[in-house]
Amino acid sequence: MRRADYQLVIVGGGPAGLTAGLYAARARLRALLIEKGATGGQVLVTDWVDNYPGFVDGISGFELMDKMTAHADRFGLEKVFSPVTSLDLDGPVKTIRLENGQALTAESVIICTGAGPRRLGIPGEQEFAGKGVSYCATCDGPFYRGQEIAVVGGGNTAIQEAIHLTKFADRVTVIHRRDTLRATRILQEKAFANDRIDFVWNAEVSEILGDADGVNAVLLRFRDGKRSTVPVSGIFILIGVVPNNEVLPLEQLETDEIGFVRTDTEMRTNLAGVFAAGDIRSKPFRQIINAAGEGATAELSAERFLSKQE
Ligand code: NAP
Repeated sequence: MRRADYQLVIVGGGPAGLTAGLYAARARLRALLIEKGATGGQVLVTDWVDNYPGFVDGISGFELMDKMTAHADRFGLEKVFSPVTSLDLDGPVKTIRLENGQALTAESVIICTGAGPRRLGIPGEQEFAGKGVSYCATCDGPFYRGQEIAVVGGGNTAIQEAIHLTKFADRVTVIHRRDTLRATRILQEKAFANDRIDFVWNAEVSEILGDADGVNAVLLRFRDGKRSTVPVSGIFILIGVVPNNEVLPLEQLETDEIGFVRTDTEMRTNLAGVFAAGDIRSKPFRQIINAAGEGATAELSAERFLSKQE
């Protein structure tokens, strides 16, 4: 007798969710992947991926995710496109509610809701969002053709996207709060060799300034207390990620202090039959290859869990 609509529901369709979905479809589980927008997650807005094994010449983020989606589709993965509004993950039958009011039940769930951009939380950031303040270089870069812009951050995202933005902007000023970058060496080398990129070290943006036309400058505060203003028409804030955990039952699920979901090495959360994979997990490294690998592990763990319930 069926205990629930699905044996497995996967929430989120980035690299982790799509890989879990591919494995579930091949295992012939009654499985469903729920995605709120388009499948692909954050990789969709990554200009270029140069470190996914097998793509020797690199591949655009969009194309990579298109291929991952097509791969899961080839094995008949069932998908629903709708925001999830709530999850009840306690007990043997889990309930997933969708925006259209539908309530689905599942014997197991893999959470792959990913992460989103961290905000600076400074004056002007909200006011000029979409009017010069951006969190997505791939989406908004073309608006800055021939202009001077700033990128905040020193990680892989900031440096990779600063390089990408030089395709459009005349000058890209990278503002970093320390004097060494966190980004991988090969990206650092490319950025240092790019004569359209300037670096401002040991500085934080304290305010974003502008007028009715949008951003026109950023105010900097240096470690030594000095202040200065850099005239720019756009600022890309690329300072890391925060968990997409708004719909997760945080009173049931164990998370770290930031709100990323804790799992063991088999992707099991503290709740029986509930797994997590990809950027929503509490972990030190966030790479596409990790997310995909964790998606596979989570699905295999879910299969093992389901076989023990029979
Ligand atoms: P990240 O690695 O956490 O780096 C965040 C950067 O922003 C750091 O340089 C940090 O400075 C800075 N920062 C954080 N909060 C700040 C604040 N309030 N004000 C000013 N600066 C601040 O984040 P990410 O670059 O977005 O990358 C996220 C994950 O995706 C990482 O695991 C990354 O490796 C991965 N990723 C990989 C690739 C690739 O492999 N090609 C590409 C993109 C992303 P500090 O250095 O001082 O902490």
